[in-house]
Amino acid sequence: MKQSKYFIKTVKDIAADEVAINAQLLTKAGYIDKLMAGVYSYLPLGVRVLNNIKQIVREEMEKVGGNEVLMPALQPKSLWSETGRWDEIKDVLFQFKGRGGTDMCLGPTHEENVVDIARKRVSSYKDLPFALFQIQDKFRNEPRAKNGLLRGREFSMKDLYSFHTDIEDLRTYYDKVKQAYLNMYERLGMPVIAVEASGGSFSKEFSHEFQTLTASGEDTVFHCSCGWAQNKEIAKVKKGAKCPACGDGVVMMSKGIEVGNIFKLNQKYSKTMNLMFTTAEGKQENVFMGCYGFGVSRAIGAIVEISHDKDGIIWPKNVTPFQVHLLSLGTDNKVLEEAEEVYKKLKKENIDVLYDDRDESVGVKLKEADLIGIPLRLIVSNKTNGLIEYKERASDDARKVAVDDVIKLVKKYYV
Ligand code: ATP
Ligand code: MG
Repeated sequence: MKQSKYFIKTVKDIAADEVAINAQLLTKAGYIDKLMAGVYSYLPLGVRVLNNIKQIVREEMEKVGGNEVLMPALQPKSLWSETGRWDEIKDVLFQFKGRGGTDMCLGPTHEENVVDIARKRVSSYKDLPFALFQIQDKFRNEPRAKNGLLRGREFSMKDLYSFHTDIEDLRTYYDKVKQAYLNMYERLGMPVIAVEASGGSFSKEFSHEFQTLTASGEDTVFHCSCGWAQNKEIAKVKKGAKCPACGDGVVMMSKGIEVGNIFKLNQKYSKTMNLMFTTAEGKQENVFMGCYGFGVSRAIGAIVEISHDKDGIIWPKNVTPFQVHLLSLGTDNKVLEEAEEVYKKLKKENIDVLYDDRDESVGVKLKEADLIGIPLRLIVSNKTNGLIEYKERASDDARKVAVDDVIKLVKKYYV
């Protein structure tokens, strides 16, 4: 992609109320644009990052047998009244009237919707188990939407729902999804810990939150190096105490960003919404369910919070909008020809390259490249003498190499 033909408009001055680092950097670098508190547009670079994350999430959900669906954001009150949540969570529900005065809302989550789909189609134990997931925008009228992509009023979530004949099958599947989540974060380059949290009103068993530990997080987590971790909301320990799990380590306290949350819903929604199946013995029983949420847009915000420096963003390999940022410095014809040739070679090798071919000063180009944060940078200038400067965004070491060697280095970096 040639930058001269690509819509990246970096921004110098951003609104004073945009206090979160993730929002500041993503706005400055041209990934997102704020429409109002908690509501953002994704610009071309932002869409690339969003799609990269969605693709990894999709692959991991398919590995645990999830089938992708897409449920509507627009939903009738009648559905939400069945579970009592029309009133129970009305503070966060965007409620309004449609034509003819019909009450409607925008979906903040999709248990009601997915149970409605299931109850029209499940009748026997032979129809179970199955799992459905979607990647879709949720709407929540959050009281504090000041943290950029970390807390949106409209935000992207992946939600998976599983359906089982019994609690044992649910537990086995839950553990499988938990592992899939850990794989997903690993691929995304996001360090997380799995934290025990309240099972909600659904279950006496813990739910698990996936927390990225960072000072800018809203949650407080107690954890031990043995792997034990609990959210402060349920923990009965203090910082510095002996770990209740291993009895050996010392409990640490950290701030974290909740980037995922998985629950055993058991029969909560299948009871209130009458989702039944006939067992092998011919009895009627309520379906057991699990639900598994992942904050797609929050993950982008969390990555930027933990992976940046004073100059800009530093993207992990699998998330970066482009694999390589190629810069031509100077307007010398020789330089431009050389850079064009490198660009063509990279494309021929199927390397995803953003080529800054613009007529801008050296300073502007370098500064913007740092801000945008693509992990590998290649420079062609009249100082490189037919060679190419290769530099990783996170390192100060630059080296000059021949074109063919550059291709090898790039491929090695992205294996
Ligand atoms: P929180 O406690 O942070 O408000 P939640 O527990 O209400 O989140 P869930 O309903 O479990 O969130 O949603 C699943 C995932 O969706 C969360 O783990 C989080 O990553 C993401 N998420 C939830 N609310 C938001 C939001 N307002 N903006 C962006 N992502 C969100
Ligand atoms: Mg949660």
